[in-house]
Amino acid sequence: MDLFDSGEISLNLVEISDDLVELFDRYWGRVLPFNRPGNLALPFYHLRGDGFWHLIPRYGRSSFGSQITSLTRLREEAIGARMDEELYGLIESKENRDRLRSVLIETYFSPEIRPLVVEQSITNRGTFAYSEELLKRPEDSRVEETLSLAEAYRPAIRDQGFRRAVVTAYSHRRALCGIRVRTLDGHTAVTAAHIVPWSETQDDRPANGVALCRMCHWTFDEGLLGVSQEYESSLPSNSGS
Ligand SMILES: [Zn+2]
Repeated sequence: MDLFDSGEISLNLVEISDDLVELFDRYWGRVLPFNRPGNLALPFYHLRGDGFWHLIPRYGRSSFGSQITSLTRLREEAIGARMDEELYGLIESKENRDRLRSVLIETYFSPEIRPLVVEQSITNRGTFAYSEELLKRPEDSRVEETLSLAEAYRPAIRDQGFRRAVVTAYSHRRALCGIRVRTLDGHTAVTAAHIVPWSETQDDRPANGVALCRMCHWTFDEGLLGVSQEYESSLPSNSGS
């Protein structure tokens, strides 16, 4: 429903997109924050049993050989899923989505968890809106313009939105050290850091971002790794090369 809100889904086809995986992981992290990674493949596959959710197999097959338990296999075997036409007709309207979202949250989550899920859904929609704003600005846009935009968003949304914008901008490239930006099963392997620290200029333009693996991010934050004026990675002590 968050992807419908952001306009990313506009057909009766829910693809196993990077954004869907990311959103699932964020909700999972709120509900089960015990370092147990979520696995979107399980609900995506098993929702079939509820009757309204239909997986679309690749290669014109009509069924799946055996139970699917990994994202890699899900992506290999399915294009995505479609809903019953009636449900799709309902879910297209924002008013109905808001109502359905409330019913789902109240039916399936305990009273203590509900506010966390609601908050995450608001953050998700804000994150998407902020990152799209950042990405559609021309690369030579001025920092001041981005600043006035950022004021409209909460810090958590700015953080996640900046990260999404940088990772999207880098998605066909590699992080600074050569780590793939996305793992084979569609998880994001990298984080995003500001080249000029946010505390100095509040510059969230993607051009001020760099995609880093977790190890490099730590090295970067500790000042052991830097980016030169020419946007080349450099070590501060290594001025000769
Ligand atoms: Zn790295």
